[in-house]
Amino acid sequence: MRQNDRSIGNNSYGQPQTDKSTHCAINGRVGRNEHPYLLLYHNIAIPAYFCYHIPMTALQQTPQSGWNITGHEYAIDRLRRALAAQQVRHAYLFTGPEHIGKTLFAHRFAQTLLCVGGPDLRVAPQTPCNTCLSCRKVMHGNHPDLHIIARPPDRQFILIEQIRALQSDSARKTLEGRRNVFIIEGAHEMNAQAANCLLKTLEEPEPDVVLLLTAPDPGLLLPTVLSRVQQITLRLLASTQIKSALQEQWGVDQEEAALIAALAAGRMGWAVQAVKNEDLLAERKAQLETLAKLPTAGKVQRFEIAQRLSADTDKTRSVLELWLLWWRDMVLAAHRCLDLTVNVDMRDILAQQATQVGMREAERMAHAILGTMEALDQNVNTRAALEVLMLDLPVIT
Ligand SMILES: [Zn+2]
Repeated sequence: MRQNDRSIGNNSYGQPQTDKSTHCAINGRVGRNEHPYLLLYHNIAIPAYFCYHIPMTALQQTPQSGWNITGHEYAIDRLRRALAAQQVRHAYLFTGPEHIGKTLFAHRFAQTLLCVGGPDLRVAPQTPCNTCLSCRKVMHGNHPDLHIIARPPDRQFILIEQIRALQSDSARKTLEGRRNVFIIEGAHEMNAQAANCLLKTLEEPEPDVVLLLTAPDPGLLLPTVLSRVQQITLRLLASTQIKSALQEQWGVDQEEAALIAALAAGRMGWAVQAVKNEDLLAERKAQLETLAKLPTAGKVQRFEIAQRLSADTDKTRSVLELWLLWWRDMVLAAHRCLDLTVNVDMRDILAQQATQVGMREAERMAHAILGTMEALDQNVNTRAALEVLMLDLPVIT
């Protein structure tokens, strides 16, 4: 039943849902309908995971190896305290940007809840032992008391049938463990029927049931669901923390670890993907090289790129996010803050172009890309929107 191939589509309530980067922050504050991952940075509202120079509270803490999670120490501590006091809630919601590690976190908590390697078999330990049969079953994805629910890849929503199955499973006795644990990955992808169906379980949970929901933003869930879950927000990691983890746990050499950590912008999951999939970095490099040439390109070449990019709409947003990051770096370079740029391997080109483009043009371009992303969320014609953006690009001779 487990499905990982998901993307943000419509929200749970049948309304068009925009991606995390489509709303604008106002003076650094966000309202209910505005996305919290946006920050004002040099007067440009961009997703917060692009700004990795934000306060990180967990920087100096030692990773807790039993949980096998890089970072998120404060969240682990919170759950450990609940476990120690035997006050585990019936439902949790883990939120945070894509690739920050919400699903992994939920799985590690589930493993801890089901672990039988602690001193007292009747209660869950504070840290999973990683060696008992239960831990191994969770890690191998075959523990009978751990149930994973996610949107099927060929469907727009998590289906009400999946939630009904959850209710049926939660009503029966556990097969092995002391609890029935359900992970709902991307809970914001429940449609209204499924969300309302889940409410019944949240309102009257069986004593041994624990529900672990993940979502990028609590605002994407029904208020009635939110009021019945314990929210835990996962924060962006410091690039130094990601770099160390890549070197120590993944055997990545220092130079590559520094690059990936910078590009990950606080998201360990993205960093791990980049290590596992070399194509990800190669594709990024190719995209940026094309982008770097655009200001010197003529209209015909720009329109060709708009046409090529619009042919693959699934990819358009990720390419635009890359472009936004590039122009955010250009703003910083124009402000002589090159050391704060994320594209550390392209700093020479950034510095060179920034002197020609200037601060105002760089800021204008970043705004133009954001405007294009918002327009695409409103279902405007992709090719037309990209052609307009191409004409907006500054010209460097
Ligand atoms: Zn164990």
